[in-house]
Amino acid sequence: MTDKALQILNSTFGYSEFRQHQRDIIDQVISGKDAVVLMPTGGGKSLCYQIPAIAREGVGIIISPLIALMQDQVAALQQLGVNAAFLNSTLDEVTASNIEQQLLLGELDMLYVAPERLMTSRFLNLLERAPIALFAIDEAHCVSQWGHDFRPEYIQLSVLHEHFPHIPRIALTATADKPTRKEIIQRLALENAELFVSSFDRPNICYRITQNQGNARDELLRFILNEHEKDAGIVYCMSRKKVEQTAEWLNSKGLSALPYHAGLSAQIRQQHQHRFLTEDGLIIVATIAFGMGIDKPDVRFVAHLNLPKSIEAYYQETGRAGRDGLPSTAWMMYGLQDVIMLKQMMETSEADEAHKRVEHHKLQSMLGFTEITSCRRQALLKYFDDHLEEPCGNCDTCLTPVETWDATVVAQKALSCVYKTNQRFGVAYLIDVLLGKDMDRIRQFGHDQISVYGIGKELDKKQWSSIFRQLIARNLLSVDIEGHGNLRLTEECRPVLRGEQSLYLRKETKQAKSTQRGRKAYNTVKAGDSALWEALRICRKSLANEADVPPYVIFHDATLMEMVERQPQTRDQFSKLSGVGEKKLEAYAEQFLAVINDHINTSANPKSSSETVDETLQLFRAGMKADEIAAHRKLQVTTIYNHLSQCIEMGQLELQHVVDLSENEIIVIQKAFLNFANEGGKLKPIYDAFEGAFDYGTLQCVRASINIPI
Ligand code: ADP
Ligand code: ZN
Repeated sequence: MTDKALQILNSTFGYSEFRQHQRDIIDQVISGKDAVVLMPTGGGKSLCYQIPAIAREGVGIIISPLIALMQDQVAALQQLGVNAAFLNSTLDEVTASNIEQQLLLGELDMLYVAPERLMTSRFLNLLERAPIALFAIDEAHCVSQWGHDFRPEYIQLSVLHEHFPHIPRIALTATADKPTRKEIIQRLALENAELFVSSFDRPNICYRITQNQGNARDELLRFILNEHEKDAGIVYCMSRKKVEQTAEWLNSKGLSALPYHAGLSAQIRQQHQHRFLTEDGLIIVATIAFGMGIDKPDVRFVAHLNLPKSIEAYYQETGRAGRDGLPSTAWMMYGLQDVIMLKQMMETSEADEAHKRVEHHKLQSMLGFTEITSCRRQALLKYFDDHLEEPCGNCDTCLTPVETWDATVVAQKALSCVYKTNQRFGVAYLIDVLLGKDMDRIRQFGHDQISVYGIGKELDKKQWSSIFRQLIARNLLSVDIEGHGNLRLTEECRPVLRGEQSLYLRKETKQAKSTQRGRKAYNTVKAGDSALWEALRICRKSLANEADVPPYVIFHDATLMEMVERQPQTRDQFSKLSGVGEKKLEAYAEQFLAVINDHINTSANPKSSSETVDETLQLFRAGMKADEIAAHRKLQVTTIYNHLSQCIEMGQLELQHVVDLSENEIIVIQKAFLNFANEGGKLKPIYDAFEGAFDYGTLQCVRASINIPI
């Protein structure tokens, strides 16, 4: 039994060994018992049900709330040669009933279904008649009424147990806190399931938090350009307006960014999400509405331009970076305004008292987290009752230790200023009083006569603003309920005011010194290898276009990286790469090996790209056909068509001489390109439109004869 699991891992998925807990979980489920699995994003949850589903008799039923995710997972499984399908509202009736037939006949390995469909009596009835291997309940935290992803249909999933008492169930989530865990077990009646809790550490994510000194956008741009140029990333903003503005600004600076928020039509959102998944190096600027159900493995950074409401939210959102395990960055910038705004939102929220207390506590923990001067990862893990022995060395406070200073006296000045002005003013006014500004407003209130007037001249406005931020974040000051931003003293400030407790605050550093670490995750690719890396990415992209799947479904970055490092030259060597199973070896080895061998040949005998195009041109003029040139030069036919289409574009060759088409056919194809102009000149839609009547090389040459912006 155990060997079967390992064999599936090796031959189907192409991985050599199990990760922490995977083996035990898989054994548990294969042997017919229940499991509850808590594992961080990117930890490898999917294999925990996919392998048992393949290994056990019958169809594995996977319940997933996210349609986009289902399609992705099914596409990825099909690429591995696994017989998987999904049933959801996007399918037409004929397709759906076809899949139901396959289910009844037990022809599928896995079937993904949305919970609302599963719970219909019709579908339950169908399941009664089908051979079932297991039930996997993905995103199981959706049963939690306290969580932000609550799905009422999930509650009903407890009946599965009553209908199918002998079929193993496995519930999985990346949400770590104990109350949620308890709810999952209770609501899904999984009291007898074994609980598997993995460490929630995401060691490949570098956590960085910096203070906003009024130039957040510039800092964001600098961060992206310095460390993540051409990388895929997500930028979170609080409001729709800020999303729009930020996306526009990034585009104006030459980056490719798309907005995503609930105010956009479903169609636009869908389109932007699709582009994010399928194109390389795109940035999505979004409100928190974006992200759940995106399991794009190569998101290299997540940037927050606003403060999340809780550590759970921060962990979940930053967790969308680096699922593939390669170095990634969680970058956040926040300032006094964020703190005030969130506090106000909380105070004015209409939730009942119990909820409010919970929310307040969560926000307070988040604020504490942003201000800490010790290792961020240790603090983060501690929040989830996890433990990290040593400081991590991969967060801002570890990389550039924060200096602290005894701020007891200045804190007392700030707090007295709040008190002496009757707790009726906001930060800007309080700072003016401390600085002893000559202003009518101050005189009107008689505040030029009080003892705190002008006692803060040793610091400037920025420094005071940082102090107020830290005092609010540490809950020594609170923000008024009326929503004017007035500050009030809290109980906690008393010992400091009375001088019974000293207070150490962060010394703010100039941002120019901020860390430059984490520079380019996969730019660990050596300079000389970047040409190969690019060539492999192009090859992957064109295969992905042909198969109409996102590039990472063909191979992950990690597998491409291994190709760069090891430069396999034979099928046997290729089969040893992590992520290459039998099916992918069959489907793709040849293409990628050709790219690698091309690279090895050209580096041994370097030729500039124009030289190699020239060589093809000479051979073509000498009367050779594209495939003959390919054979002669030991290059891919697609490479030769690339060369030829470049020559057509440059006017060095006539299209009619290169392709075997009638004049009429040429016109028809050219028209098709123009009709599909909004596809950016992609070949696949045209290929499909003619139902494969013209090969890609031919289409590429025709495209070169017209002016299509690609
Ligand atoms: P999760 O659902 O927990 O976020 P996934 O199941 O998507 O994570 O897995 C994250 C990544 O890790 C995927 O790319 C997956 O193929 C890879 N992975 C999972 N298990 C292993 C393993 N044993 N060896 C190598 N890679 C693995
Ligand atoms: Zn650290």
